[in-house]
Amino acid sequence: MDYLQFMQPILDSWQQLGGEIKTIACYEGFPVYGLKKTVVQAQGSIIITSGIHGDEIGSLCGLNDWIQQDFASLQHNLNVYVLPCLNPMGVVKQQRATGSGVDLNRQFHIDTHPIVQGIRKFLGTERFLLSLDLHEDLEEAKFYLWEIRDQAKDISRLVVDCMRNHFPISDAEAPDGILVHEGIIAGDITSVSQRIAKRLAGHPFAYFMTQYYTNYSITTEIPGQGDVEQRKSAQKALLNCVFGLDLVNEKRGN
Ligand SMILES: [Zn+2]
Repeated sequence: MDYLQFMQPILDSWQQLGGEIKTIACYEGFPVYGLKKTVVQAQGSIIITSGIHGDEIGSLCGLNDWIQQDFASLQHNLNVYVLPCLNPMGVVKQQRATGSGVDLNRQFHIDTHPIVQGIRKFLGTERFLLSLDLHEDLEEAKFYLWEIRDQAKDISRLVVDCMRNHFPISDAEAPDGILVHEGIIAGDITSVSQRIAKRLAGHPFAYFMTQYYTNYSITTEIPGQGDVEQRKSAQKALLNCVFGLDLVNEKRGN
């Protein structure tokens, strides 16, 4: 895929919406973009990220379509931050890893990493009601999500409910060796940090976000086995669903 060609319509749409566009890093020869759009009297902020894994095309292109087709007409009162594609070379090569062959989603403990530095500069002192990282599980046929939070919340369950129209929901299965319960792999920050210490080679983005920027982080995993158009439209539906929720009071909006 041609990364710059892929990004251009997103940047054009964002500009037309009056949003800010920043180049947060130059990584493996490509600019990595951060998008920001604030509203007057915001009830809070949300951050949406995609393209950490370059081969998860449904989520990446679904976010792209959503920005171009749906975002402008949504009623909401959130400051919106988007990191639309964090691993350009992975996208170019259609691979999970970066150009140098590492999993970017295990690099977020490295303070000197250009992506980590770029994100920290871009986000500054902002705090988010929700950090939403969009992925696909290419080996799964059912939807599930990972949740990290400081106390029990309802948003994840509402997101899972939205996805019932699109996919079977994973339940009592262990796609990544960890048991899913009704579509959700949940953990408070302490249990997640213990899990990471035991199982993972480095920190994922979601954990980094809960360390510094949010009390609530969701990583969605759309099943990557189906038709790509269906995956894209499900990704758009998921984003529309989240923007239909009242994130402050954790319920469906009106
Ligand atoms: Zn992924």
